[in-house]
Amino acid sequence: MTAVPLTSVHALRNIISIRPLGLFSDIDGTLAPIVSRPEDARVTPKCRELLGRLLDCGVRVALITGRTPGTARLMTGLDRVVYAANHGMTLWMDGVDETTEAVAGYVALAGAVARELAGINAVGVTVEHTGPNVAVHYRRAADEVTARAGIIEAIAASPSARSFRVREGRKVFELRPPLPINKGTALEGLVRRFGMRGLLCLGDDQTDVDMFAAVAQLRDEGLRGASGQPARRADEEDLAGRSEAGDPRDAERLETIRGALERGCGVLRNRDDLEGSLAALENTRRDVENDAKMASFVGRASIVATAIATCALRREESRGDHFRTDFPSRDDQRWLGNQLCVIRPDGKLGVWYEGLAVGGRVHEGQTGDR
Ligand SMILES: [Mg+2]
Repeated sequence: MTAVPLTSVHALRNIISIRPLGLFSDIDGTLAPIVSRPEDARVTPKCRELLGRLLDCGVRVALITGRTPGTARLMTGLDRVVYAANHGMTLWMDGVDETTEAVAGYVALAGAVARELAGINAVGVTVEHTGPNVAVHYRRAADEVTARAGIIEAIAASPSARSFRVREGRKVFELRPPLPINKGTALEGLVRRFGMRGLLCLGDDQTDVDMFAAVAQLRDEGLRGASGQPARRADEEDLAGRSEAGDPRDAERLETIRGALERGCGVLRNRDDLEGSLAALENTRRDVENDAKMASFVGRASIVATAIATCALRREESRGDHFRTDFPSRDDQRWLGNQLCVIRPDGKLGVWYEGLAVGGRVHEGQTGDR
């Protein structure tokens, strides 16, 4: 998928004339400016007015956000909008809160996580309990590096947090139930529910990528949206994971790769999760190899993902962006260096450790191939 700067509304003309038309958007950073206190964020009066005019024109407006329905409504001041709140876990429409039982079960547990994280010892860190989710913000921290490290350690030490999936956004960590629900599934559900034929989708953060991937997938089914193209071009790779050849098995394989990386190679890691992820990635890689498609997008993705998981499993320490819950300490004796991966002629992955030169000495670390 190629990003093209939107310099004129004419590029959207083919979409905005379609009915039923939807405007599905994130709120924070997209419709509401980012502010130092998240609780102060609001859409601008101009934005509120324009959303109202779109509603008056019969455009279905859905706001897909990490906020709770109540907070999202407070931020926009609009009740005619559909809210897919809590990252799609909660749907609010026409005054009715549609929370499923599976999601409701995590609300109390998220409260326990929020209590366990309340003692994070860093100035400027805010813990926000939003229904089944918990968000830990550090955008107000004077020392963001220290605050971020403190948050990671606190999450790793929280027993209740182990029931949640941890994702990192812009100066925020988000803990969500490990349910197959995200902004993308929420968007897809709303498109089908309202029979949308055209869609404009707006977002600004990593969690919004799920929405864009869903739009790309729906485009295959005839939805007009995102780029204005009537359907996927045969030569187009996109975030939904289609290959150059459009093989539906590749979309499934890329979803497996994505899930394995998300499960095993997130901010918090441990041996069991990494081994599980690596097994899934190696199966996928063999599968792609059997189809002689290693040179394709899915083939390259399977190699890179396997290399990431392999290196993550070997690195038995915590440092910077990753925290091994089974190896919580930094280990400069063995891991003050980088790992390098190559694909050998026989297709196997080779991994080397290259120690960094610090204080006139190169750290030897661990070497070996996989
Ligand atoms: Mg945002």
